[in-house]
Amino acid sequence: MKRYEQYIRKVVPYVPGEQPHFSDMIKLNTNENPYPPTPAVQEALQSQQGECMRLYPDPTAHQLNAAIAKAYHVEEEQVFTGVGSDDVLAMIFQTFFNSDMPILFPDITYAFYPVWCSLFRIPYEILPLNEKFEIVPEEYFRPNGGIVFPNPNAPTGIALPLSDIERILQHNAESIVVIDEAYVDFGAQSALPLLEKYENLIVVQTFSKSRSMAGERIGFAIASKKLIKVLHDVKYSFNSYTMNHSAIVTGAAAVADEAYLQKITAKIVSTRENTKKVLSGLGFVFPNSKSNFLFVTHPDLDAHALFKALREEHIFVRWFDMPRIRNYLRITIGTDAQMEKLFAFLQHYLDTQKK
Ligand SMILES: *Cc1c(COP(=O)(O)O)cnc(C)c1O
Repeated sequence: MKRYEQYIRKVVPYVPGEQPHFSDMIKLNTNENPYPPTPAVQEALQSQQGECMRLYPDPTAHQLNAAIAKAYHVEEEQVFTGVGSDDVLAMIFQTFFNSDMPILFPDITYAFYPVWCSLFRIPYEILPLNEKFEIVPEEYFRPNGGIVFPNPNAPTGIALPLSDIERILQHNAESIVVIDEAYVDFGAQSALPLLEKYENLIVVQTFSKSRSMAGERIGFAIASKKLIKVLHDVKYSFNSYTMNHSAIVTGAAAVADEAYLQKITAKIVSTRENTKKVLSGLGFVFPNSKSNFLFVTHPDLDAHALFKALREEHIFVRWFDMPRIRNYLRITIGTDAQMEKLFAFLQHYLDTQKK
């Protein structure tokens, strides 16, 4: 082994859901929104000038941050934007999780958290969800170097009530508490109102799911001005121009269209509730999801075999090769027509399995 090989940082990377390209596929594996973004996004793109390509974008992303601040009734100095919430979260880990004490997150959660811990050499402790896959707030009442979890949690879809988040904050006045609200627009309560009382809280959201803009890569954090300021200091020490011009203008246009957000999230929620009825009729069991996916298991079926059978039909869902959840599938809520095709396949699959 060469000496330099000893000094290579070795990480086990996060593995995102696959992005297959079949014209007939039903893609329910990465929690994308089946509907297009607001038409305001297309208009914003068309109004862009050629000069936008030649010049550097605004490093402060003022237009986008101001639009987010307006939509969420906070000050612009309380907003930090990044290249998807993955970028925002990575910056948060780097900026705030520098203690020798472990940061805390659940055993079943967003698989990127342990990857950033290993990349940035942050000690961590995983706290098991209870047998119903719920976060147990009391588990987080212990010394720590920070706390992070999604609400609703992924891939379970279960939302923690705001009162429990507040209890966690009350017991952790000395820690940064990050609530990753990637799915909050599909029916959970946002922790944003708690910002007035807790200056150690950071709320992270994304345009990838509810706003149908996964391809544009826009995420944001809202917190006290003090925390946002230090986050910007780290960002500008790394790369000033993370937000490209088209993300700034299309993001600003999208966040201003609250009516459209309400309309498509309501549509997805209604498809989700119908999907719950049909899948329980077929014998599937799942936690009560407040997100745009269901996390399902079936007492008579092997989840990995079903995952492969669906794949053969170009119906893509997500299976995780992880303890406790090997017999579960995470199914994104698509359009009603897509879900009907899924139901028909599952009905047929169950019929042939029973023979
Ligand atoms: C999808 C997701 C994200 C990141 O999404 P971006 O596309 O990077 O904004 C973050 N956290 C959770 C829990 C997610 O599911």
